[in-house]
Formats: sequence, structure tokens, C-alpha cells
Amino acid sequence: MFRTTIPLGRYAGVAVGAHWSVVIVLALISWLLGASVLPAAAPGYPGSWYWITGALTAVFFLVSLLAHELTHAVLARHHGMGVKRITLWMLGGVAELEGEPPSPKADLLIAASGPAISLLLGGLFLGGAYLAAAVLPPLALSGLGWLGVTNLILGVFNLLPGAPLDGGRVLRAAVWHFTGDRARAAATAAKVGQVLGLVFIALGLAETFLLGQWTGLWLAFLGWFLMGAAQAELTGGLARRRLGDLRARAIMDPHPVPAAGWFTVQGFLDQTAGTVRHRLFPVLSFDGRPIGVVSLAELTRMTPDQRLATRLSDVCRPPQLVDAGERVADLLNKVSLRPGTDLLLVVEQGRLAGTISSEDLARALELAALRGQDHNVPAS
Ligand SMILES: [Zn+2]
Repeated sequence: MFRTTIPLGRYAGVAVGAHWSVVIVLALISWLLGASVLPAAAPGYPGSWYWITGALTAVFFLVSLLAHELTHAVLARHHGMGVKRITLWMLGGVAELEGEPPSPKADLLIAASGPAISLLLGGLFLGGAYLAAAVLPPLALSGLGWLGVTNLILGVFNLLPGAPLDGGRVLRAAVWHFTGDRARAAATAAKVGQVLGLVFIALGLAETFLLGQWTGLWLAFLGWFLMGAAQAELTGGLARRRLGDLRARAIMDPHPVPAAGWFTVQGFLDQTAGTVRHRLFPVLSFDGRPIGVVSLAELTRMTPDQRLATRLSDVCRPPQLVDAGERVADLLNKVSLRPGTDLLLVVEQGRLAGTISSEDLARALELAALRGQDHNVPAS
């Protein structure tokens, strides 16, 4: 989902990163607290104190978000799912999970654990503010109180029953439990998610234009994002159903044109690239192992001198390897292939068996869709 993030380290074995837009949240919360919330709640301090407390509170808010996502991630891993990473961004946090929850119960636990931690944190912050009321200065108490209330709101908001919110996953788990049909359950949760998104947009616009509150725009933007994500879940679910048990080896190009990693870039252009109709090439080591991917677009950025002096193995990107027996439906969750840039290398027993480009994936999806409508289309 997010290609460029600032790494923030690993927690409980999960890589955490921040998208640049998280800076907007930090600035917005600091500004909201420093300019209005804190001065109103605890008057009489020098102006800079409000800003410092506001910024500190904003950082603690991000840490609360991280705790929410980490809880999802740890429970997902406990139930055998993969966790790619956690990303913090403008609209909160995202734990990118791989694979599917094994049972409705696992689905429920993974989904409900995040909001549960937010509610718990909210209670702890408010309880802490209450207990420390006699010792802490009013400004610190206001910050704690804001964190408490915000975490409670975050917990409740995430429990709204539409995908991709956590409440949507809870709904999915429930429908799955009662009908035994996971795909239908996911579609139900996604449809409710679309309705929720529409409601947020309407409320946000009403708040902005009827009440003159600019924060309404944020709600409308959130609604717009939710609608898009719910739509993506609907189409993704449909695609997964249609792909069924199709494996990577069935959709790969079984005759890839490999590039020799020990060649110079110019040698590769003369010997290989100029003679075939490809823009992306798998790069092999001298002993035949797949070691990377190179695109013609990348090589255009090199000077003629560099092309003569550089080996292909030194300029290729590390490969995304997939096993030939991997289900294409699972691949959809894991990879996003940019046309002309990304190429999956399909390996069988350590050797390159084929490649999958965005075109190959799109073709597989289109054929699966056509097969879903008309049984006369031959299988590829
Ligand atoms: Zn969550």
C-alpha cells in the first residue's frame, strides 16, 4: 500500500514504518492542542508550554496507534498469518497482514484486539489523570485527559461494523460463523463499509458547510477513503473467488529471457535486450540462481561510460521470488506490480521457472472473470 516509508524499527518482531503524511497528523494534533484545546482546559501558562505539551501529546497519540496495530499483528501471527509491516500514516495505522485468518474465531480475536487495546489505553490515561490529579500540573492532566478521550473515541470508531474498519472484520467473523461462507461474509462487511463511508462523507460535508467546522473535511476525506477501501475489498474478494485454486505456474511466462548478471550493462543491451520484445528481465548469477530484476527504464538513467563499466548484477534490484505452487489468489494480497517496473520471479526447486508481470496478472484476472461469466472460454 505504501511504497516509501521512514523505518521506525522493529517491535515484537514486526517492522514499523511511517509514511510522510504522518507529519501532517503530528502537526495538526500539536496545533489543535497547543492553540485551542490546552489553553482552554488549563489557562495561565506561557504560550510555548502549550505547544510543547501539545507536541508531546501528539507523539503519545501515535504510540497509542502503534500499540493498537501491534496488537492486531501479534494476534495475527499467533494464528499463523504473516505480518508484512505496520505503517503509520495520515488516517491512523495499517497492519499489513498476509494470508487469511484460519477460523471465524481467529478473525474475531485479531479484529477485536486492536479496539480493545485502544479502549484499555483510554481507560488507563483517564484513570491515571484522575489518580494523579493532586500531584500533576493542570496542563499535564489536560494532555492525559485528551489522550484518554481520544483513545476511547478511536476504540469505539474502529468498532463501527463496516470493512475495512475493525468492526467490519468483527461483522465478517460473525456472518462467517453463522453461514459458514467466508466469501459472502467478507462481501457483506465490505458493503456495509461502503454505506459507512457514504455516511461519513455526508456528515463531514454537512459539518463543513452547515456548521462551518473545517474538521468536517477530514471526516469527509476519511469517508472517501473508507468507500475506496471497501470497494477494493469487494472486487478483491470477487477476484479471489474467481481465481480459485489457480497456481503461479499456470499464469507465468514459462519462457523468460534471462539476463546474465556477470555481463556489463552494455553487453546485456547488445546481446540480449536489443533482440527480444521485453522491457523487464530476470537476472541470473553465473551458477543460474535468480539474483535480481532489471528494467530498460532504469538503464536509461546510466551514462554510456557507466554502462560499459558496470556489471548487471551491480545495478539490478533484489528479486521478488514466488514459489511455482503458490496460489495466485494469495499473491494478490502480497504484491502490487507496477507495469514496466516490477517482475515476479517464479522459482521451482531454486531455479527460475518463469516470470509474472503486471500484464500476466491482469490477463489471469480477466480470463478468470470471463470464465466466471461464460464456460466456453478455454482455460489458459
Ligand atoms: Zn485496528
